[in-house]
Amino acid sequence: MLTDAQIIERIKTLKKVKNAVILAHNYSLGEIQDIADFCGDSLELSIKAAETTADMIIFCGVRFMAETAKILSPDKKVVLPVSTAGCDMADMVDLEKVRRMKQENPGLYVVAYVNTTAETKTECDICVTSGNALNVVKNLPQDREILFLPDRNLGSFCAAQLGRVMKLYEGYCPVHNRFTVSMIEKRKKEYPNAEVLIHPEAPADVVALADHALSTGKILSHVKNSDKKEFIIATELGILHRLEKENPDKRFILISPEAVCPHMKLARLQDLLRAMEEETEEIVLSREICEKAVVPIRRMLEFKS
Ligand code: SF4
Repeated sequence: MLTDAQIIERIKTLKKVKNAVILAHNYSLGEIQDIADFCGDSLELSIKAAETTADMIIFCGVRFMAETAKILSPDKKVVLPVSTAGCDMADMVDLEKVRRMKQENPGLYVVAYVNTTAETKTECDICVTSGNALNVVKNLPQDREILFLPDRNLGSFCAAQLGRVMKLYEGYCPVHNRFTVSMIEKRKKEYPNAEVLIHPEAPADVVALADHALSTGKILSHVKNSDKKEFIIATELGILHRLEKENPDKRFILISPEAVCPHMKLARLQDLLRAMEEETEEIVLSREICEKAVVPIRRMLEFKS
């Protein structure tokens, strides 16, 4: 049995031999984030990967993230280390239902959170991330009715902030949707001086109690630039790894010990090594899917966030 140090050595060697780049989402295990070439949110990572000259992308995250990397880099080999790493929210979309809604509502403008499968993206007009959703939606044509999918919480956050009525798909992230008003109130009582930073995938009544609703990328930059010393973090546990590493003089309190996405924790060091050795599971998408799914992503990238 190999030690962690031996596994890390092998991964580093294989990375050079295979000209691979390792990407780790902000929610992945600390041991994975530490060995990755880039850490970040899913879109940030896919863009970085597309810009590299690597032949292979190892995406330590969940399936839709690896698919997004493939869509943006169709000629690179993209590998998802644990094939069962899915996303409950992305899997809540019933494509037939979306197609029916489009047929019944000609002119419907479909906005897809980037947390969607490649196939779902082929049915959408534009993608958004949690970081740019407000800016993108604000600039969409006023005369078109919007369907926002799959996250009803992020969708209603945008609708409320922008005062725009939208059709919301009934999807949600089980990790963030579990956050409650009483969880926040309890933490605020325990840490009265802490600033509350929440991800907008949480329910609206909980988001309303936070100081800032931010994407993971924006939580990281906000904390770095803040003079405050204590933060209540209302998103997935994995982000604490980077927050603590990059801000050793600051204190972070997770909203709840239950804020853990089991899918994001599947890839461990040994899985990463095996994925690099065997180059599995390779993400395979047809040319047609890639060409259609890239359209809403490119449209989003034309907006400045
Ligand atoms: S945290 Fe939620 S949205 Fe992110 S991968 Fe897990 S289930 Fe999906």
